[in-house]
Amino acid sequence: MTKVMVITGSSQGIGAATALKAAAVGYDICVNYLSNEQAAFEVVDKIQKMGRSALAVRADVSDENDVVRLFAEVDKSLGKVDALVNNAGVLDQMMPVEKMSATRINRILTTNITSYFLCAREAIRRMSIANGGQGGAIVNVSSAAARLGSAHEYVDYAASKGAIDTMTIGLAKEVVANGIRVNAVRPGVIDTNIHEQSGDSNRVSKLKSQVPMQRGGTAEEVADAILWLLSDQASYSTGSFIDVTGGR
Ligand code: NAP
Repeated sequence: MTKVMVITGSSQGIGAATALKAAAVGYDICVNYLSNEQAAFEVVDKIQKMGRSALAVRADVSDENDVVRLFAEVDKSLGKVDALVNNAGVLDQMMPVEKMSATRINRILTTNITSYFLCAREAIRRMSIANGGQGGAIVNVSSAAARLGSAHEYVDYAASKGAIDTMTIGLAKEVVANGIRVNAVRPGVIDTNIHEQSGDSNRVSKLKSQVPMQRGGTAEEVADAILWLLSDQASYSTGSFIDVTGGR
């Protein structure tokens, strides 16, 4: 039977790479996006050309009503979710904490933390054996920033990813008896458009000398780790982390 995967923020970057690789191994995919409709439709088109079903859903995953609607649309069009990748995330202009506004901090925290909780909640309600579900797997996309701290850049972002690490550990223990595994990947410097939000679109080439492998990573390299954690090959892994950082 075909499995169904929801990937938040999969119009581009790590989410889009994960969607294409997941479709190639047989998943039907919900491609969630916020603003980049054309890119989301292109990902859906590529998946459909692979012979799989795909659905683009615009939803702000930091908004509870949007998340509830997203999962209802997946129920209707693709069926019950088997796998969730909590991936949508944002950062903001580099600045010290002493200059950060509450508006900025709250946007980072609700987009990067609240959304992961809301999507996990909707997925668990459907996957949980106690609710008649079949179990499932969740992967949270955290960041190496959770342990590095991103001083002078975006400590708010790094702290949001620290929260995701703690969520991963707690939630994994909470839902293990219901047949659900919860793991995380912690990417390092990956070549995607997210760096434009920091005000430095050359960030990957600037930072590569600080990476033991002397290069940035690709979205596909992160997607491979996500897919392994979702797969049956990771059947004894829960509450665990894969760092995809080139050794940083
Ligand atoms: P990206 O290329 O900027 O893609 C971000 C995706 O998230 C886009 O599809 C965007 O949708 C979506 N999104 C943003 N806010 C959203 C919201 N409120 N609701 C729904 N979707 C939303 O970023 P990326 O580099 O692939 O990052 C993916 C994840 O990896 C993030 O959690 C990020 O923190 C993490 N990460 C990235 C790196 C890196 O170096 N790239 C390193 C460590 C961790 P639209 O395009 O439609 O607006």
